[in-house]
Amino acid sequence: MLKWGLIGASTIAAEHMIGAFRAVGGDVTAVMSANPERAASYAKTHAIGRSTSELDELLGAGDVDAVYVSTTNDLHRDQVIAAAKAGKHVLCEKPLALTAGDARAMVAACRSAGVVIATNHHLRNAATHRAMREAIKQGRIGKPLFARVFHAVYLPPHLQGWRITKPEAGGGVILDITVHDTDTLRFVLDDEPVAVSAMTSHGGLGTSGLEDGVMGVMRFSSGLIAQFHDAFTTRYAKTGFEVHGEDGSLIGRDCMTQLPQGEVLLRTEAGEEALPLAHEPLYERSVRLFQDAVAGRGAPSASGEDGIKSLTVALATLEAASRAREIPVHFEL
Ligand code: NDP
Repeated sequence: MLKWGLIGASTIAAEHMIGAFRAVGGDVTAVMSANPERAASYAKTHAIGRSTSELDELLGAGDVDAVYVSTTNDLHRDQVIAAAKAGKHVLCEKPLALTAGDARAMVAACRSAGVVIATNHHLRNAATHRAMREAIKQGRIGKPLFARVFHAVYLPPHLQGWRITKPEAGGGVILDITVHDTDTLRFVLDDEPVAVSAMTSHGGLGTSGLEDGVMGVMRFSSGLIAQFHDAFTTRYAKTGFEVHGEDGSLIGRDCMTQLPQGEVLLRTEAGEEALPLAHEPLYERSVRLFQDAVAGRGAPSASGEDGIKSLTVALATLEAASRAREIPVHFEL
């Protein structure tokens, strides 16, 4: 079982990840925050043995096997590279970094240190998305032609900080949510995006030029096109994920969330049926697969390369919106 060091005294760690590490038998041994008092109070609140404001101190002691990096996005690169150099396995939050080159450097550092790196794209772990992927593989909707992702949500007041005020920290809805859509589409469709077009909007939350809404379309290598709608400003929309094929449609509802919930309907000539779903906490599954990968059993649910790809598409989406044209997507791993 892994001993985890937290890099970042974050909300996501407090609300989901510390519980997930412990639920699958891991131990959270240390936490690092830039502010020593905050580190100490976070450690106390969450019953974490040790706190520090120094990365070297977090990485230097023998009580950390793996780190979970959930600082703001601008800090991930240097922290991940330092962790890899210290021989720690890495579970990093999305987006991996602010440029694809930085994300590649992070994955390369982990590869050369021989440690596991994974991206915390939790939605691959949802029973809903796994069931849709399986149904497509079984040919239940025939050739997939279109997908639609509904991921416009309301950013809760306690998260209305750097995401809507700090471009330099990697704020904005595209780096926050479109990365998840990209990863989920790649996973469910088992297909790769080749181009993207998008328009952004400013609905009153984003400042300093940061977009708080986006609608766009991704073209995939099979010819399928996928529409996505992401926002921080939409209180009542609810989430969904649909794939429409030649012979049927998959309608996922309430599934672009952090919780083990939602349903999937399969609609074909034969009528409508709900796919059976074995819901499991998404982050726990992510951590369990990570632990297995460290033990040499299989791969994490979303790899470092998956993180490079979702970031590459998010950056292309930003470019598409700012240049008002379709942008080709080229993956360099
Ligand atoms: P937070 O704003 O909660 O945390 C980011 C950093 O902000 C922390 O590392 C901390 O710095 C500082 N901070 C947080 N709360 C306070 C506070 N009350 N006072 C002072 N400083 C504070 O961000 P999130 O947890 O929302 O996101 C962190 C990362 O996780 C991002 O990369 C984000 O994209 C990702 N994320 C991923 C999700 C997923 O489902 N995969 C969901 C949510 C976020 P310090 O550590 O120095 O104290």
